[in-house]
Amino acid sequence: MSGVVYLVGAGPGAPDLLTLRAARVLARADIVFHDALVHPGVVALAERARIVAVGKRCGAHSTAQRFIHKRLVDAARKHAVVVRLKGGDPLLFGRAQEELDALRAAGIACEIVPGVSAAFAASAALGVSLTERGVARSVCFATPRAGADRAASDWAASALAADTAALYMASEHAAQIARTLIIRGKSPETPIVIVENASLATQREHALTLRELSKSPPALSSGPAILLLGETYRRALDARIESALASRISNASAS
Ligand code: SAH
Repeated sequence: MSGVVYLVGAGPGAPDLLTLRAARVLARADIVFHDALVHPGVVALAERARIVAVGKRCGAHSTAQRFIHKRLVDAARKHAVVVRLKGGDPLLFGRAQEELDALRAAGIACEIVPGVSAAFAASAALGVSLTERGVARSVCFATPRAGADRAASDWAASALAADTAALYMASEHAAQIARTLIIRGKSPETPIVIVENASLATQREHALTLRELSKSPPALSSGPAILLLGETYRRALDARIESALASRISNASAS
C-alpha cells in the first residue's frame, strides 16, 4: 500500500496566504519536497516532516526533473503523507503535469491543493483588477521566450489577443519582451507594471509604458517578479505621474 502525494500550492510568499487545507496537509506530512521559491515560514508548518529542498531555478534539465519523479515515487512507497510544495498555484508553470503523470503511471494516488498564484497576489498588492467592465474581459497567463525562438508556443500572440496579460518568468528579459510586443503590434503606450516579491515585505512595483520598458528597464532585485500589462494598469501609471508631480511641488516649496 503506498501513500498519497499531495501537490500543494504554497502561495506567492507571505505564509498567511496559504490555504487552510494546505496548512492542514502540511501538519500531517511525513515528508515534504519543496521548491526554491517557497517561504521558510510555510515549510515550517510541516512540524513532523522530513524536509527536502528540490529547488531548481528555470533552465534545469530534465534529468533533474526525472530525479524528482523518482524521489516522489520512492517516498510514497515508504510514507503515508507526501507533500510536493510548489510556489503559487501548483498547476501554473510548475511542471506539475509531468509529476502527476509519473506518479499516476506508478499507481500512486495524488491530490491537489490549489494556491494563490503570483498574478493574484501582485494584483492585490497594486489594488488594480485584472479585469474591468468595458476595458478588460480576458486575461492571459503566459511565460515568454526571449529572442526569436517560437518553437514551443507563441506567447506573444496570446498576450496580444488578451486584454490583460500576466507574464511569468519574464523579468530577466523584460526589455526584450517589451520590444517583441511592440514589434508584434502592441501600442508602445500600453501600461505595464512589474511587481517584485508580491506579498512580501520586500515587494516593489514599477509602473511604466511598454516603450519605457523597451528602452530603460528598471533595476530589479534577484527575487521573483511578474509583469502585468494592459489598459487596466493606466491608473497605476497615472498614480506614478501624480506622485512624481507631488514630490516635485513639495521639493520646490521646501527650497
Ligand atoms: N506556480 C507559480 C508560478 C511559478 S513560475 C504561481 O502560480 O505563482 C515562477 C514565476 O512566478 C516567477 O518567475 C515570477 O514570474 C512569478 N512569481 C512567483 N512568486 C512571485 C512573487 N511573490 N512576486 C512576483 N512574481 C512571482
